[in-house]
Amino acid sequence: MAYLISNAQVWDGSVDDRYPADILVEKNRISAVARAPGELRRDDAEIIDGSGLTLMPGMVEGHCHLSFVGPARNQDLGEIPPEEHLLRTCRNATLILDHGFTSCYSAASAKLRIDVVIRQEIEDGYLAGPRYRAAGPEITVTGGLADERKQHMHAESFGMIADGEDEIRKAVRLCCREGVDNVKINISGDEFVSTARAEVTSMSESEVAAAVETAHEWNKRVSCHARAAASVKRGVRNGVDVIYHCDFADEEALDMLEAVKDRVFVGPAFGLVHNAVFEGDRVGLTRDVVEKMGLPRKLEACCRTYQEMRKRGMKVVVGGDYGFTVTPMGQNARDIGHFVKFFGYSPAEALRCATSVGGELMGLKGELGVIKSGALADLLLVEGNPLADLSILVGPDRFAMIMKDGKLHRDPRARRADGFRRAAE
Ligand SMILES: [Zn+2]
Repeated sequence: MAYLISNAQVWDGSVDDRYPADILVEKNRISAVARAPGELRRDDAEIIDGSGLTLMPGMVEGHCHLSFVGPARNQDLGEIPPEEHLLRTCRNATLILDHGFTSCYSAASAKLRIDVVIRQEIEDGYLAGPRYRAAGPEITVTGGLADERKQHMHAESFGMIADGEDEIRKAVRLCCREGVDNVKINISGDEFVSTARAEVTSMSESEVAAAVETAHEWNKRVSCHARAAASVKRGVRNGVDVIYHCDFADEEALDMLEAVKDRVFVGPAFGLVHNAVFEGDRVGLTRDVVEKMGLPRKLEACCRTYQEMRKRGMKVVVGGDYGFTVTPMGQNARDIGHFVKFFGYSPAEALRCATSVGGELMGLKGELGVIKSGALADLLLVEGNPLADLSILVGPDRFAMIMKDGKLHRDPRARRADGFRRAAE
């Protein structure tokens, strides 16, 4: 199977501007890119006319929770029975692909096996969804983020609670045994929990070391939740691969991150704090509660930190903790615009975070999130110019074509025919 996509304006995931080019897709790869119109020919290729559209790489969600199915409270995710939970996660997988994300890097699964099962179902071709790097639940210590138990009452959440090196190693091994790609650990607390707040470093040095050593021995990547400055340093010192949040990183933490910027990815997961502060009233989060939780302060810290991350040339991935009530799944591309508005990125820089940097996070540097000969054919045709208006990527109406791995999830020809039919009626 081959497709010739002609006459589109191409944004290739690397440069700052679009340019006219034709693209040939053979099987699951881009086999040729020609800047001269009409140069590419292949008689057996299906023609897709990209006139008036932007052709860009499929987007990569760098902090994804497909199994976060709209909880208001963390423990809501523990209370959903596995059967309903799995079905609702399936719907999220298709929903996010419909919104132009052809790859997702999981930042934790709410139950141990959900991510793994979803990834397999997608890979086997039974479920429409993105390329998926599956994670386990958030490994956390007693009292840390995702421990919702009370002394008098048990409660499940999205965490797996482990204390001390031995229990941590066992939790990591359990995740490995069940087939995850990424292990997630919570090194700091969070403003969204009443006990270990964001600036508390809850997981000890030796526990972090044990988690990373064990995961790496099993050839798994490690990502961590780290808002406190000390938690960021603990993550860097012990070899964590992806360090999320970093809101309260101090100068020393930023220097340590910069020293490992070739190896380590960071990601603000900004959407959740953004929506809680600016749109919380939509879900009954009053101004009072928002202030009491210290969220405006966290938002300011996050903005300061990521302006600095940008200047220091860190590899920053998009993804905003979508999947909570206040951050509905599907709105994920809003975070790209936030990078421009709050962190000082140019539109092309922000879009690179959502494409080529994301491709590197997925372990496919130069093959995913870029348009060039030999790259994987994850492609979008968008109505309009995203570089002039990033909000069109929130979609999903603006995506005329969604192609993943050389296969059409949304066929632009069907859409055009439908448009003509409606115009005629
Ligand atoms: Zn998260």
